[in-house]
Amino acid sequence: MDFDLTPEQQALRQLARDFAQKEIAPVAALYDEREEFPLPVYQKLGEIGILGMVFPEQYGGGGADLVSLAVVTEELSVVDVPVGVSESVNGMVGSIITFFGNQQQKDQWLPPLAKGRMLCSFGLTEPGAGSDAMAISTRASLEDGQWVINGTKCFITHAGTPISGLIIIAVVTGESKSRKELSCIIVPKGTPGYNIGAPYRKVGWRSSDTRELSFLDCRVPEENLIGKRGKGFHQFMAVLDWGRIGIGAVAVGLARGCLDQSLKYAQQRVQFGVPISKHQAIQFKLAEMATNVEAARLMVLRAAHLQTLGRPFGKEASMAKLFASEIAVRAAEEGVQIHGGYGYIEEYPIARYYRNSKILTIGEGTSEVQKMIIARQLGC
Ligand SMILES: Cc1cc2nc3c(=O)[nH]c(=O)nc-3n(C[C@H](O)[C@H](O)[C@H](O)COP(=O)(O)OP(=O)(O)OC[C@H]3O[C@@H](n4cnc5c(N)ncnc54)[C@H](O)[C@@H]3O)c2cc1C
Repeated sequence: MDFDLTPEQQALRQLARDFAQKEIAPVAALYDEREEFPLPVYQKLGEIGILGMVFPEQYGGGGADLVSLAVVTEELSVVDVPVGVSESVNGMVGSIITFFGNQQQKDQWLPPLAKGRMLCSFGLTEPGAGSDAMAISTRASLEDGQWVINGTKCFITHAGTPISGLIIIAVVTGESKSRKELSCIIVPKGTPGYNIGAPYRKVGWRSSDTRELSFLDCRVPEENLIGKRGKGFHQFMAVLDWGRIGIGAVAVGLARGCLDQSLKYAQQRVQFGVPISKHQAIQFKLAEMATNVEAARLMVLRAAHLQTLGRPFGKEASMAKLFASEIAVRAAEEGVQIHGGYGYIEEYPIARYYRNSKILTIGEGTSEVQKMIIARQLGC
């Protein structure tokens, strides 16, 4: 077994690590406080090729694999989770076009995505359909060569930023044998009838753009359908597996950030005449955090590696996402505990990590949903 990254993956990790330290760390708290999307950070991420790294080289992307994406996502998330999330979600959503799109869609959308000049979003969740994806009710009807879309999507990541270019939405396009026919359709930003709501005020991920979207007689050409009509469920399930690896990597990054912050603090904070890192109770917390980070990273990278080999990886992706997100929440909680009262004060980064952690066990499928998927694969 070879646990080493390739030279290319190591170079990408170094690039992301340096970028995170130089360009993200100095501004992360500021954008969080202002609840503002850090546009200059994304523009630079696009310029150095990170935003477009997983897109095919023939469209101007980096042609990197999912292991590389996981490694880079972890590095960005050590410093600032919302940046890691958007980078990973963008790669995942764009890959729907890479895997399932037609030539015209690839020619139109992949070059700007690959060059990092544009972000794309994915709209599955609705007010009445969260964990139960089949409950979606946003409908697209074919009229005179156009899809007419009506419905509402909620909690959509980075659909309303200045560089958001398109959203791929899951819609109902019909019924057959009392089963809903689900399809995925591209809706370019600016299409009449596609309305982007105000950003939510969130507990964490405050610099991440999250909005409700509504579609009111929104018309797009028939050719904006991705792949075959009725294949939407298969398409979004495939990318959700990929997305779970991304969120798993975000969670590893957050847990590692908590460990770094907590170790540094514990070595400086003196109580009872010694740095608190000399107290065994604190050492045990740090040791557990470090062990969990290693285990979660191995699970995330293994799932990503299986995907690059073209082998089934859905169960492993769910396991990795489940474990990594749960240990990330625990690392943030223990990190605050190690910081004592100062951990509850916003001047200390651990407070931001704490606020950013909880959604990791909810987004991209809750922990309960991951357990349902794993149990199903076990044959239950
Ligand atoms: C910041 C943020 C960003 C997001 N970004 C996106 C995005 O870009 N695109 C997108 O489509 N969505 C996005 N989401 C939505 C996210 O994926 C959903 O919130 C998530 O899937 C859970 O759905 P829900 O919130 O409706 O919870 P519900 O499905 O209502 O679940 C509520 C609780 O019930 C539990 N539950 C539900 N069904 C079962 C069951 N059968 N058995 C046991 N327990 C069950 C759940 O685990 C959970 O604990 C985002 C959400 C947030 C907050």
